[in-house]
Amino acid sequence: MSKGITRELTWVITSVWLALFIAWMTDWWMATFFGYLLFYIARQLYSIYRFELWMKGTPNVSYPPGSGLWGELGYLVSRKQRSLEKHADLQFYKSEQFLAASMTIPDAIISLNESNQIEWFNNSAKKLFKLKHSDTHRKIENLLRHPDFIQYLKSGRYEKSVILSSLNGIPRVFNLKLFPYFQEHKLLIVKDIHELYNLAQIRRDFIANASHELRTPLTVLNGYIEVMMDGQEPDSMWVKPLEQMHNQSERMQSIINDLLTLSAMESETLVGKEKTVPIAPILKKMEQDATQMSQGKHSFRFELDESLALKGYEEPLKSVLMNLISNAIRYTPEGGQITVRWYEDAKGPHFQVDDTGIGISQEHISRLTERFYRVDTARSRDTGGTGLGLAIVKHILERHDAKLVIKSQLGKGSSFRCDFPRSKAVH
Ligand code: ADP
Repeated sequence: MSKGITRELTWVITSVWLALFIAWMTDWWMATFFGYLLFYIARQLYSIYRFELWMKGTPNVSYPPGSGLWGELGYLVSRKQRSLEKHADLQFYKSEQFLAASMTIPDAIISLNESNQIEWFNNSAKKLFKLKHSDTHRKIENLLRHPDFIQYLKSGRYEKSVILSSLNGIPRVFNLKLFPYFQEHKLLIVKDIHELYNLAQIRRDFIANASHELRTPLTVLNGYIEVMMDGQEPDSMWVKPLEQMHNQSERMQSIINDLLTLSAMESETLVGKEKTVPIAPILKKMEQDATQMSQGKHSFRFELDESLALKGYEEPLKSVLMNLISNAIRYTPEGGQITVRWYEDAKGPHFQVDDTGIGISQEHISRLTERFYRVDTARSRDTGGTGLGLAIVKHILERHDAKLVIKSQLGKGSSFRCDFPRSKAVH
């Protein structure tokens, strides 16, 4: 039986005994009975009244008083309340601790509500944007007026960050990223990446300049080698060395070209206007190049959705298509099958190249898009590879908000699929 009922019954039994004793003593049985009933009802009503006052939080009304069911109920409710208060105190302490920690973070943090109004900001944001307490509820667009940021904010696509070369008149490079949380609220994190960005820029410039400087002397050398090759008798001892010199200088030229393409991909200047790129006709032309490159050693299947085009940059996209097709040819032994597909499904447009070639074991797959990463260096060299093809593909795809998905089984073949976002499809 519940503790409340037991307490009530104990009270009732004790008080009934007392009433019986009084009745026996006075011989007023009826009067005692009605008197007791009246007393019992009045007591219940008074307890309910006190309970209600106490629940409402009326000052100076405390509970639980006395015994009985209401005393027990009051005790249980106050125990529950104490445990909730303890929990709330703990939560408050934790959130205070969290806020204090966020105050010390060097990145500027601003939380925004569903209407993009400022709700809270940390010390770094306060310093960087000279924010005052009165700026809460101000719209973030009125504080950060940079058009690239406004476009990013309105786009609703916050997987990537936006990099700005100056912000509110501060001539430094900033990385801004929005993190959506709880019912369209957002957290804006602004990082000062000026030093990091400059270092990366120096590295990019160095690679681009070095490649550029190497290009001219190499062209001269290659030209002389070709002239010397033409002037040799077929049985001359110089035929083989000259041929090797020619192959190696061509390889160096390919590496330099790939390095230049890669640094162009990485530099901001490449971004012009995106155009509609007719992928299917481009692939049809590439089918001829692929057949020539394969020299009849492979069978090809091209499955192309001719009504589907892509919004993007034509030359870089051509480089993606050719890189993946030529890899399939280079890493598929004679007699293999290569299938090239250009199609669309619910997720968006896809370009996919499947081959029945040598395949790649799992441990290499995640590293294939690193510069100069090759599973088999000798084979890559022999087939004219530079180790930069997939790095270029990855960069170009990133520029198109696309992803490269690689699946492969050693000895069975590989599948390279480019997943473009739905917004890039043109019909
Ligand atoms: P490479 O110029 O060496 O081909 P890539 O960047 O194009 O450089 O490719 C990196 C490595 O990925 C290659 O060296 C090769 O080992 C592997 N690879 C790429 N495509 C394929 C494929 N279709 N089948 C098997 N291995 C491949």
